[in-house]
Formats: sequence, C-alpha cells, structure tokens
Amino acid sequence: MAGSPEVAIVGAGLAGCLLACYLAARGHQVTLYERRPDPRAEGAERGRSINLALSERGLNALRGIGLDDQVMAEALPMRGRMIHPVHGRLDLQLYSSDGLRSINSISRARLNAALLDAAAERAGIRFAHRLTGLDPATGTMVFEGGHTAKADVVLGADGAGSAVRAALAEGAGLRERTDFLQHGYKELTIPARDGAFALDPGALHIWPRGTSMMIALPNPDRSFTCTLFWPEEAFAALDTPQAVERHFAAVYPDAVPLIPDLVDDYENNPVGKLGTVHARPWQAGGRVGLIGDAAHAIVPFYGQGANCAFEDVVVLNQVLDESGDDWTAALPLFERRRFEDTSAIAAMALENFVEMRDKVASPVYRLARHAEHALQGALPGLYLSRYELISFSNVPYARVRRRVRRQHQALAAAVAAAGIAALGVAAARRIRGR
Ligand code: FAD
Repeated sequence: MAGSPEVAIVGAGLAGCLLACYLAARGHQVTLYERRPDPRAEGAERGRSINLALSERGLNALRGIGLDDQVMAEALPMRGRMIHPVHGRLDLQLYSSDGLRSINSISRARLNAALLDAAAERAGIRFAHRLTGLDPATGTMVFEGGHTAKADVVLGADGAGSAVRAALAEGAGLRERTDFLQHGYKELTIPARDGAFALDPGALHIWPRGTSMMIALPNPDRSFTCTLFWPEEAFAALDTPQAVERHFAAVYPDAVPLIPDLVDDYENNPVGKLGTVHARPWQAGGRVGLIGDAAHAIVPFYGQGANCAFEDVVVLNQVLDESGDDWTAALPLFERRRFEDTSAIAAMALENFVEMRDKVASPVYRLARHAEHALQGALPGLYLSRYELISFSNVPYARVRRRVRRQHQALAAAVAAAGIAALGVAAARRIRGR
C-alpha cells in the first residue's frame, strides 16, 4: 500500500476510539463508523454495564494518548474485595500485599465520551452507521440503509457480536465459536444515602453464594451499581415481587435496605448474556482485521475485557512500528503476537468466576491469601500473586500464567520439603528417645 492508507474502524466503542487516536498519530487517515447515535448526546444504552474496573494495562494504553490523568480524575480506587457473608462480619481482602495498589471503578459512559472527544479531534466519526456487509477482498463496506464506503484497511472493533467477524466467516474462511456461560447478569442500583456512599467506596463488594454471586462497584455520583451473576434459570424463577423480596431477604440480607427500587430494577432491567468468543484467523489478506472483543470477547470476572482490548491497541501500534506501517505484515504479526495472551486471559477469567463466587468466602482461601502476601514480603519481586501480575503489571497474560504455575510448583515443593524436614526432626527425636 503506497502512501498513507485510509483506515476504516467499525465500532466507536472503547477499543475503536483508542485505536483511531493511535493510528491518527501515525499519520493514517481514519474514519470511525458507529451503529449508535452519538452517545454523548443520547445517553448510555440500558443494560450495558454502567461501570468497569480499569487497571494498569488499560491505563498504560491511555497514557499513550495522554488521556490517563483525565480518566483517573473521576476514578474511584478500590484497594480490595469486601466480602459480605449471609450473616457475620464483613471481610476486606486487599488486592496487593502492601495494601496500596488499587483497581479503579470508572463510568463506562464517561470513559467512552472522553475517548470519543479525543477521537473526534483526530479522525472522522460517522454515527448511526451500522455495518451490515463487507467484502474482505476489496474493503467495501455496506451500511444499514444501503450506504457504502471503501477503505484500504478495515478494522473491526465492533464488539462481541462483530459484523466484521461475521463477514470474515462468510467470505474469508474465519472459524468461530462462542461459548456462552449458563450464567447471565442483571444490574441493580444502590443509591447514595443522605448524599453519601451507602457502602465503603474503597472496595469492590462481593456477596459470594456458591454457584452465584452479586458484586457492587462505586460510581462518581455516590451510588453503587450491583451486578447479579446468576444461573439463567434462577432469574426466571423469581416471577413475583414477593418472590424477589423473599429471595433477597434470605440471600443478601444486608443489601436489601440499601436497594429501595429492588423489585422495579429486578423486573425492568434485562438479563445480559456472557460468553467467550473463539475465532481465527483475525485477519484476511492484511486488509481486514479484528481487535478487542470482536476478536476475543471474554467473561468479565477478571475485570480485564476492556483492559485487554486497550492493550491490543498498544500491541498493534508496536507491530506497525516493527513492520514500517505495512499492514499486510502487521495484521498477521498482531495475531501471532496476541493470540496466546488473549487465550490465557480468557481461561483465567473463567477460573476467577469460581474464585469470586465461591472460594473467597472460605477460611482456607483466606489463609492461603495471607500466606501468599507473606511470601511476597519475604521474596520481594520474586513472588507476585496472579492478581497483582494481571491487574498491576503489563507482563503478557500468557507469561503470567506460566510464571504463576512455576510459583505454585516451587511453593508446593518448598512446603513438601519443609514437611519432610519437620518429619525428619520428629523421627530423630523419637530415635534418640527425646
Ligand atoms: P465494545 O465496547 O462492545 O464496543 C463495540 C462498539 O461497536 C460499540 O460502540 C457498538 O455500538 C459498535 N458496533 C457494534 N456492531 C456494530 C456494527 N455492526 N456497525 C457499527 N458499529 C457497531 N472490562 C474491563 O476491563 N473491566 C471490567 O470491570 C469489565 N466489566 C464488565 C462487566 C460486564 C457485565 C460486561 C458484559 C463486560 C465487562 N467488561 C469489563 C468487558 C468490556 O466491557 C469489554 O471487553 C469492552 O467493552 C470491549 O471493548 P470493545 O471496544 O472491543 O467493544
């Protein structure tokens, strides 16, 4: 491709807007096509998650366009998980061994608006343009209503239900599968109480209940957004206001007085689906590519989907550096560089669901976390928990997975060796008759 190519990005969500900023800085002519009207004028869609947890990987990507300080100015840092048992005391489990590091609760709408503002300064944005067809060979796009456009490079940042991915499946041999969870999600609101937060805003709150859970993240207006992650059939089973009230009183007793619109929220807010997208290849002919959820949507239990989508943008920018902006080389290289990492976080996000909804409530888990933090103190820089490596570092996800496996093996060997040594001392005492 000679000269500076025209790049079309389908989807002006989180990844699409950030990508537009990075590519414009490289001198590409960028146009974003977004199916929705401008959300800055229209307000957020009901049923999308209200807030999200932003951590180091996402912040690192925002730093690249100088947007990190603006976004962090409205962030609410959460330094641990606050566990709410059915009865009994709350338990704060810190995320880092020094207790100082936090993940950040961010308004999704405000983050998207900040990114749209930044993208609008650097690129063209066409709202109310829903992609309905794409010819991967020519880069010709068709939008709802019949309007067409063409670009040298077309990038699909159009989320988990990507139309660009569908076009690659239809016309370029992409194979895909979405593994849906049996669990869905529904949001409820804990409003501010007398102008103040009703719960500690410095923590992510979890009500772990075995096969299901509720979580709550703070918002800048001092409310909390609660999300229920329940088996799908459990939502339908509560089919009267009385059944909803009875269930919450039995299972989430401390939350009930904090959710005045419980029944209304429960009856009117939708149940969202959750799943992992497996798709390959992510590109065709070095002309059409996928990024973010469009390539590899994951379940939200590590709070990493958006962070990972932002990290994709950083990696794509790096491979463009390495390939001298040759898209035919860059898109296949991006996939090779990123596939193992995104598969690793997809697997770890599923594993973390079991940890959050079940394990965090157990005394054995609490003991193990204390031991892990003590070990981190004893071996500074050598031993880091998986949570810290995922949330507070930019170490590639697949490398995190391998490193944590080695750490656990070393720990098990050390525990076994300590056990054998202790047995030896006891045996020696017996032999000596002491
Ligand atoms: P999206 O944000 O989905 O953006 C896609 C954009 O494309 C949208 O603007 C959409 O309107 C547009 N679009 C779609 N189809 C078309 C089309 N045909 N034509 C034109 N435009 C189109 N991640 C975190 O990092 N931390 C969290 O705490 C977190 N919590 C989550 C909680 C829940 C309940 C869920 C469901 C997800 C959560 N995530 C979280 C994941 C995160 O929301 C996604 O990973 C992230 O939004 C992906 O960004 P994206 O830009 O790839 O896709």
